Amino acid sequence: MGNVARKRIGEIAAVGTKIIPWEQVSHPDGANAVPISSPRPMVIRLDRVSKHYGGDAIAAVEEISFSVEQGEILVLLGPSGCGKTTTLRLIAGFEAPDGGRIEIGGRTVAHDTTFLPPEQRGVGMVFQDYALFPHLTVQENVAFGLHHLGAEQQRNRIAESLDLVGLSTLQGRYPYELSGGQQQRVALARALAPGPQVVLLDEPFSNLDADMRAQIREDVGSILRQAGTTAIFVTHDQEEAFVIADRVGVLNHGRLEQLDHSEAIYHTPATRFIAGFVGSADFVPGLVQGERIITELGTFPNQQGLSVGQAVEMMIRPDDIDLAPDEASEATVLTRQFRGADNLYCVHLPSGRKIHSSQGSTKLIEPGTRVTVKANPTHVVCFNINGLAQ
Ligand code: ATP
Repeated sequence: MGNVARKRIGEIAAVGTKIIPWEQVSHPDGANAVPISSPRPMVIRLDRVSKHYGGDAIAAVEEISFSVEQGEILVLLGPSGCGKTTTLRLIAGFEAPDGGRIEIGGRTVAHDTTFLPPEQRGVGMVFQDYALFPHLTVQENVAFGLHHLGAEQQRNRIAESLDLVGLSTLQGRYPYELSGGQQQRVALARALAPGPQVVLLDEPFSNLDADMRAQIREDVGSILRQAGTTAIFVTHDQEEAFVIADRVGVLNHGRLEQLDHSEAIYHTPATRFIAGFVGSADFVPGLVQGERIITELGTFPNQQGLSVGQAVEMMIRPDDIDLAPDEASEATVLTRQFRGADNLYCVHLPSGRKIHSSQGSTKLIEPGTRVTVKANPTHVVCFNINGLAQ
């Protein structure tokens, strides 16, 4: 077993051996952590949390703040190295922040000199590599975090968890006798069995092939919702984030750049980075002139009331652009990529800039064809020179 696997199993042990049920989590003064009458209490709250590793001058996570409601699935999305795993590890208690406060279930678990170890945080974890114990059966793997319960309670929890993930009939098998998707469900059942307040999932599907991924992400989303579990799910895959999330938080260089519903992240990204990372986007320069923003692709309403004379970059998504063959036009189709459901065209504009257009799968335009380019953005989103949405 490699170091990574050993470390993971150690971490599971730390998380799984002593879970404090949600109802028993109390404030220091003995009051319930969350008033019963509150319909959607906040289960996790991060307030300006930062983390530098070793003597690194650059923060892995910098002043991150967000809250997650009970039963909500929050997805942290971002490129490799942006701080997603570090954020999960800070919440789980595998790392200590150097600044800020973390609360779980109304209790401060990390702040200044306060630091609760993982086993006191009521958190379950699901890892990318499943981290199942190879020498234990499915049932024994799920039993791993239940040693504090009596035999009958253990049996009930195991049965409920395996039922929830649809693996009741495979409880006697060993991990090597299961598919990757089934192993990941066992990992989820093991994380859910102790009844944690929060489940943290770190790129849980990245070892699965595309078909299996698509299937299991829907299954996992509905299993978590059925269990009413609060979850934070980490991925670098935008499609996965949109499918599974109630809300998506986009991280870049350790900072949370936007936290919102999937539609808002896609249609009204807060930064130029998000616009390009979440889906495809081209950017065309524009100049604000009164009620209008003038660009090479036409004139658009100045909906945000930007100040006259301001130079901006307007986001254009491929699905915002229509093409029509036109011998008189100076724009030319450079390439066509058939993608099954659509054709992605790259068009050379008179300025030399390139722009992309998504057209129906049966709309065929040969490269070299001159075309008129019509932009119909669903939302006019402009960024200033600092890459911030205006
Ligand atoms: P990925 O998607 O590749 O897993 P991530 O978004 O989860 O990336 P993190 O693993 O949180 O990113 O890493 C954030 C930054 O912190 C990176 O620059 C990484 O090199 C650094 N880092 C992570 N773990 C450690 C560590 N134990 N010691 C030193 N630096 C670390």
